[in-house]
Amino acid sequence: MKAIIKASAEAGSLEVTDIPTPVVGPGDVLVKIHASGICYTDATIIENKYIGRKPVPIPMVLGHEAAGEIVEAGPGISSERVGERVALEPIAGCGRCHQCLIGNQNMCAAWDHIGITCDGTFAEYIAIPSLQAHRIADSVSYGVASMTEPFGLVVRTLEQVKPMIGETAAIIGPGSIGAMHLLALKASGLAKVIMVGLDKDAKRFALAEKLGADHSIAVDKEDAVEAIGRLTGGAGVDIVVETASSPKATGLAFEIVAARGRVSLFGLYPSAEFSPVQMLRRGVTAFGDVAQVTRHFVGALRIMASGVIDFAPLITHRFGLDDALQAMDAKKKGDTIKVVFEA
Ligand SMILES: [Zn+2]
Ligand SMILES: [Zn+2]
Repeated sequence: MKAIIKASAEAGSLEVTDIPTPVVGPGDVLVKIHASGICYTDATIIENKYIGRKPVPIPMVLGHEAAGEIVEAGPGISSERVGERVALEPIAGCGRCHQCLIGNQNMCAAWDHIGITCDGTFAEYIAIPSLQAHRIADSVSYGVASMTEPFGLVVRTLEQVKPMIGETAAIIGPGSIGAMHLLALKASGLAKVIMVGLDKDAKRFALAEKLGADHSIAVDKEDAVEAIGRLTGGAGVDIVVETASSPKATGLAFEIVAARGRVSLFGLYPSAEFSPVQMLRRGVTAFGDVAQVTRHFVGALRIMASGVIDFAPLITHRFGLDDALQAMDAKKKGDTIKVVFEA
């Protein structure tokens, strides 16, 4: 089968190649992938910049955001699942450590994550434990369902920051995770959602405004602290979601958050500049987390099935597996929201 792999330990290694179709083991299903989205994590793995708990195996099929159809049931799995349309939950914990036993498989030191610690979804097929293949509603397209994993991260944020109707938020980083937070926070009844990025994000800002963003601020063109102060009557924003993954963005998050505000940090950045005094004096709560657990993934599926959010406009670029390099280049350019491989 065709697959996009990181072929060597060299930075930038990326190949479209032919590999054997995976064999289903006991408890697995074989899924024909119909849509798989590119994530910032994929780019960091390709460039050897990913900071994970385990080394990335080489060679490895990339990709972890996918939806497809079950075409084979492994030993022990009912053949009734064949033909089911599914989205793939990417993580499995060891199932035995303390964190797994209390339901935090994303905190398991021995976790497996498709496309990070084992073969992923930029391929025609994947063999995956049946429990990680969740049925999607008939009304949800494969393209939209491929965003279940990133949207699960947004469900996790909402659970942590608990948005209240009428509050305000700033989202630093207007990429795909930023845009998904925008949709969810607007659907939660926020009064004002402000997108924060760079001048080069003009196209992303334009789409964000179509999706409901109230204001956009390019930090290289205007003073974001002053602008957010002005837009919030001097209060700052109640919620900040930092998705830009830069030390400056982390510092900015703590400068623009309101007293008793909440900050959610997404950037896997080894160090940052922020003022603990600002955090303490304002009684700010900051959340850090990685990946998600099953209730977030299932929560994302339920929101998709409900139709309360229109996810389709988030997919701005579509490619076939043969066009791996063009797709990665498009992702880098910064005028995309979600880039998806389709088959
Ligand atoms: Zn991802
Ligand atoms: Zn575990």
